[in-house]
Amino acid sequence: MTASEIARETIKQIAVRRVEPTPDNYTQIYHEISGKPVKEDAAVALRKALKQLPHDSLEQTNWINRWEKVLKQDNWQGLGELLTESMQQELSHSNKWPKAIRTLLQGWDDKRSGVDVARKRETLERVLINFGSDASLSDKLIGMANHWLPAEARVDSAPLADMPTTADSPAPVAAITEASTEMLPKDVQQFHGAFAILQTLLKQTLQLGLIPRLEGYPDLQAEALALQETTERAKKLKEWESLAKSLKALLMRVEVIGAKEDDVRGDIIDLLHLLLSNIGELVAEDGWLTGQVYAVQSIISGPLDRAKLKQAEKSLKEVVYKQSLVKHSLMEAKNSFKTLIGTFIDKLKYMGDASDLYSGKIENYAKELSQTDDLIKINELVNHLMRDTSVMQTDILRSRDDLLSQQRLANDTQARMQLLQDELQQLSEVVRIDQLTGVLNRRGMDEAFSTEIARHQRSGEALSVALLDIDNFKMLNDQHGHAAGDAALKHLAAVIKRAVRPTDIVTRMGGEEFVVILPNTQLAEAVMTMSRLQRALTKEYFLGNNQKLLITFSAGVALFQGGDDVNSILLRADQAMYLAKKSGKNRVMTELDLQTSAAS
Ligand code: GH3
Ligand code: MG
Ligand code: MG
Repeated sequence: MTASEIARETIKQIAVRRVEPTPDNYTQIYHEISGKPVKEDAAVALRKALKQLPHDSLEQTNWINRWEKVLKQDNWQGLGELLTESMQQELSHSNKWPKAIRTLLQGWDDKRSGVDVARKRETLERVLINFGSDASLSDKLIGMANHWLPAEARVDSAPLADMPTTADSPAPVAAITEASTEMLPKDVQQFHGAFAILQTLLKQTLQLGLIPRLEGYPDLQAEALALQETTERAKKLKEWESLAKSLKALLMRVEVIGAKEDDVRGDIIDLLHLLLSNIGELVAEDGWLTGQVYAVQSIISGPLDRAKLKQAEKSLKEVVYKQSLVKHSLMEAKNSFKTLIGTFIDKLKYMGDASDLYSGKIENYAKELSQTDDLIKINELVNHLMRDTSVMQTDILRSRDDLLSQQRLANDTQARMQLLQDELQQLSEVVRIDQLTGVLNRRGMDEAFSTEIARHQRSGEALSVALLDIDNFKMLNDQHGHAAGDAALKHLAAVIKRAVRPTDIVTRMGGEEFVVILPNTQLAEAVMTMSRLQRALTKEYFLGNNQKLLITFSAGVALFQGGDDVNSILLRADQAMYLAKKSGKNRVMTELDLQTSAAS
């Protein structure tokens, strides 16, 4: 090939290969075609070498670009500077490694910082994960190990460009800040920040979420509280591991309680169903219904305990069952008794048909008998009947035996009824409600009083008590009958309830004596309440046998003192009441009057 042929072919190849028509490219292709060895210059060789270098990181690409730039500019001096810089960097890198390892070993063994080996390992792992393939790794390691050394033993390392001087994490918590977070690598610092947030969250979850829900389970609550405190104190990995373990165990027990509470709720619903389904069956005696409702209310008011509920349900079931049994038998007994008497009267009527005089009398007995349910009265009537009819000698004599056996039967039935009545009375004790008046009975009062005393001891609020006794009640009974007396007691109970506050507790101690417990009430206020009651009784008078009857009472008031119990305060109230009786009745006196009267 001639030189001109080679030149032509070279130009053709430049076009075909679409390479830039630079002198370098021309020379290279010319030599290729002519078959002569290529004489490379330094710039070409360098460019080739640069192309083969890895372009993995931005840092590398930048570095290569800088080389290419100086080559393009033919800036050989710049090239020299670049080379020096690179060499120095390499040199300082290789210098740093022995220093980094030495510092790491020193820091690892040094105990003066108080950071334990587990914590050090943890930090080291973090640094390796984050900077393991980074050129700055040695600097980071020196920085890290320096934290484990006292200030005077620290090793200099070039200041690290990407290390912030202020923490950008939220308020660090004591557990993390034992070594200043400022100097830690950024990622480790971020990890500590996140950790602090989680630590605070855990503490708050325990404090606001779990602990208030464990009301009624003091053991678990105490445990949760202890865990909350540990959360604040725990610093070491080991402490956190054991904390996690305890927390897991606690949560498992809380879960069990949750299941139990669900059962308790189920039990309450069963109990309410039982109560409701039986209320219909109860013969309309208010005391009973009030009692049942009271029992359930008192159960539900306390912390729910499954065993307690079960027991309440059982006793309530028993009461309901026995009550229906007793009521049923009672009705049966009354009915059979009345049928018996009815037959008896029919017989008499038949026998007395002959005599108009007796038939009239007997009809009267029959009428009276059909109108009464009172056993005492029925028995009385039968006795009168016997006496009256004994005059009728003829036919009656023949039926005498008959009559006697009938009366025996009647007496038996009455005895059985008495038994049933007693049983009913005993059952009423279960519900702590006074049958006659519907207010709490003595037993109910004892319980209510204890509750109020406990509340008083917690709150420090004044607690007063008034004991009142009807004046001349025996006279009312004697003049108007026992039934009127009973009605008067019911009336008084109702008026007291209306006159006092809803939070005051009205109870019947027995007989014609009532006790009113007045929580959050000073002595003088309690006296005022009793005076108000006196006025109420003059307005809401009692109607006995269609007569307006004025009920008056004498009352003694006492204030609960430190060292008092139910009996001691009631004793002082009773003494004050007695003083009121002695001073002329229909008045209210207090324990303070006791001292005055003792002094005079
Ligand atoms: P004082 O003014 O001194 O209190 O005299 P009093 O008559 O009220 O007191 P006393 O203790 O002498 O009599 C109380 C009477 O109350 C005797 C008893 O028959 C009657 N009593 C007690 N419980 C009942 C009851 O449940 N119903 C009726 N009707 N009377 C009762
Ligand atoms: Mg009395
Ligand atoms: Mg009395």
